[in-house]
Amino acid sequence: MRSYEQSAAQFEEALKYIPGGVNSPVRAFKSVDMSPVSVARGKGSRIYDVDDNEYIDYICSWGPLILGHAHPEVTSAVRTALEKGTSFGLPTTAETDLARLVTEIVPSVEVVRMVNSGTEATMSALRLARAFTKRNKILKFEGCYHGHSDSLLIKAGSGVATLGLPDSPGVPDNTGQHTLTVPYNDVDSLRVAFQKFGHDIAAVIVEPVAGNMGVVPPEPGFLEGLRRLTHHYGSLLIFDEVMTGFRVDYHCAQGKYGVTPDLTTMGKVIGGGLPVGAYGGRRDIMDMVAPSGPVYQAGTLSGNPLAMAAGLATLTELGKDGTYELLEKRAARLAKGIARNAEEVGIPYWINRVGSMVCFFFTEEKVTSYEQAKRADTGRFARYFKEMMERGVAVPPSQFEGMFVSTAHSEEDIEQTIEANRDALGAL
Ligand code: PMP
Repeated sequence: MRSYEQSAAQFEEALKYIPGGVNSPVRAFKSVDMSPVSVARGKGSRIYDVDDNEYIDYICSWGPLILGHAHPEVTSAVRTALEKGTSFGLPTTAETDLARLVTEIVPSVEVVRMVNSGTEATMSALRLARAFTKRNKILKFEGCYHGHSDSLLIKAGSGVATLGLPDSPGVPDNTGQHTLTVPYNDVDSLRVAFQKFGHDIAAVIVEPVAGNMGVVPPEPGFLEGLRRLTHHYGSLLIFDEVMTGFRVDYHCAQGKYGVTPDLTTMGKVIGGGLPVGAYGGRRDIMDMVAPSGPVYQAGTLSGNPLAMAAGLATLTELGKDGTYELLEKRAARLAKGIARNAEEVGIPYWINRVGSMVCFFFTEEKVTSYEQAKRADTGRFARYFKEMMERGVAVPPSQFEGMFVSTAHSEEDIEQTIEANRDALGAL
């Protein structure tokens, strides 16, 4: 048995000063009924906790670390930037460099504004969509998570789903009234919502591959249906690519599926492990953002030099030949290995995978919606999680989050993970 003694002591101490002992809820390992491990360092595919336990890491900071921990190019770029000063609050070349690169890579983005988190990106995109269309309502999908701003914290996935919380207290009723929700992958329900409220829907926001109710791919025709209906009713289509951006494809989910939204929100990978979010899209819409237009949005640390350096180094590295083929190969092998194990052990399972996002559900039923994801056996997942930790593999501590494969995961890492999975399933 591994010892988690130092981690437990650290968590005790954290509980005295931080609500729930953590700065983001899922980190508390509450749903897996375990005290969280405290990380000391990471390198490549591995993290090490304060008890010196080693893990192959598939949390990867919840997505940003597509190149693994402390990638030499990223570390070196940040170090170089650091020597020149950490923040100026005045324009720097690196901001334009990253913005230019993003407009070249992401089909829908002609102009892009940097912010500090995914939450800020989606919140700002909604304000802009409402201003542009002069409409009030937004429509989101059940189980999708778009950060914790008021209008988006309705039937949300991620930690809200993991902790089984109802919609959050503190969101005013009249804010909630302007957020419509329909089931993911359900174009018929969307059509009904548009027939009823279409004249007042400013935007539809969607995770083009859902990653916060576990991983749920778009069914054929779903994204196309969204594009058609939003176009017909004069609403904007926002792809929230905070998780999928530069992850499922270099050109994001919109490049992979060939559906171009009006606005795109980004985060995670674009910051290479530093705090960055971004929103961008059609120039005529983005031109409404201050100071070129009247829609206000600002940030003291937005476009921070260290963050821009990490983002630029990460996207440049990802642009090299063979990156996404490698991610696909590793993730496919992982999914196949897990599936074979589950069959051998006789455990009901369903696996969804899009590129390097892999989700192993403890349910037999095909998962295309939040309702189906919720029917997975979360108790069994909790036991599985602990067995995996014990065998040196860190998977996200929730049934409603996917595993992230990085370019740092070697063939041996994947084989070792499959072996750990077989033993863990056997122990259940
Ligand atoms: N949108 C999506 C699709 C996300 O996955 C997340 C975070 N998991 C967010 C928005 C919020 O981003 P952040 O945590 O950086 O605020």
